[in-house]
Amino acid sequence: MICAYCKKEAKPTKEHIISSGILDLFPECFLTIDSNRGKIYPADPVVNDVCSVCNNHRISYIDSYAKNFINQYFISKYGVHDTLDINFDYTLIQKMLLKYAFNDMRSKKENTDFFDEGILNFLMNEGETVPLKNVTVLAGLAVNNSPAPDFMFGNQKLQWCQSPIFLSNSIVDYINYGTGQVHIRESRELEIFESLAISYLFRFNSVQFIIVCWDKGITEEILEKNNAILKLQYPYTMLSDSNTATLSRCTSETTYHLFNLIDVTWGQSIFDEITAMRNGADPSTKTSFEKLTKEWEIQERKLAEEHKRN
Ligand SMILES: [Zn+2]
Repeated sequence: MICAYCKKEAKPTKEHIISSGILDLFPECFLTIDSNRGKIYPADPVVNDVCSVCNNHRISYIDSYAKNFINQYFISKYGVHDTLDINFDYTLIQKMLLKYAFNDMRSKKENTDFFDEGILNFLMNEGETVPLKNVTVLAGLAVNNSPAPDFMFGNQKLQWCQSPIFLSNSIVDYINYGTGQVHIRESRELEIFESLAISYLFRFNSVQFIIVCWDKGITEEILEKNNAILKLQYPYTMLSDSNTATLSRCTSETTYHLFNLIDVTWGQSIFDEITAMRNGADPSTKTSFEKLTKEWEIQERKLAEEHKRN
């Protein structure tokens, strides 16, 4: 086998798509749901094409950082109006998301031309500390403010998908405040970004990250325009090498469950109005949600206990 990182002939070892250290934080997520292959299995998602030197030495510093970072901020759930100040190493956040995207793409046998020698050296060398300009990272808090508790959709605390759908206009066209009727826009309007190479969306419990990789030849002008759209149009915070950011909720009652949809900021506000109208009309929705969520948390603790990892 040729190692996916160092490109040398070697014996394959199992590389976790999402680092094992992060999986260790959520032992209740013991099943892998692979919708690409239509399979559910009681084992970690791995890809089998990395040599032991790369796996255990060259790229493991990224996993150590990832585990500590997620453990520090995102084990807890956050409320609808919460904000969270985070400190991070932007280069390591880029490396973490690039590595996971690369692993996932290889496991699906996709074209990984973006991960050329330059990117692989960036990942393999801990000493490479300057962030990549053609990689944009957005982050926000995933908060379930829907009437449907988490367990209704399975235990999906850890999720990722390639090419999330960036909407360019709200899902809901308007609300008739007289009748409460919600009018959905007839066609979904999508944002198409010029020079986009790869995009991924990740959820690690209470945080979501979007990574957007731009073509190497992208011009300053297009990069600036794309980043401005991402920054202004979506309810996410753009991370930068200032290594500090304030995160707020990036999900609505709809996008929390329809994970691959990135709604625009004003679309999220419209859904928030619908949520508020429902809660106002029937306050029992909220109390039954809270009751069911508490019960589910007890079940989760039991599952975590039953499926202890090393
Ligand atoms: Zn290697």
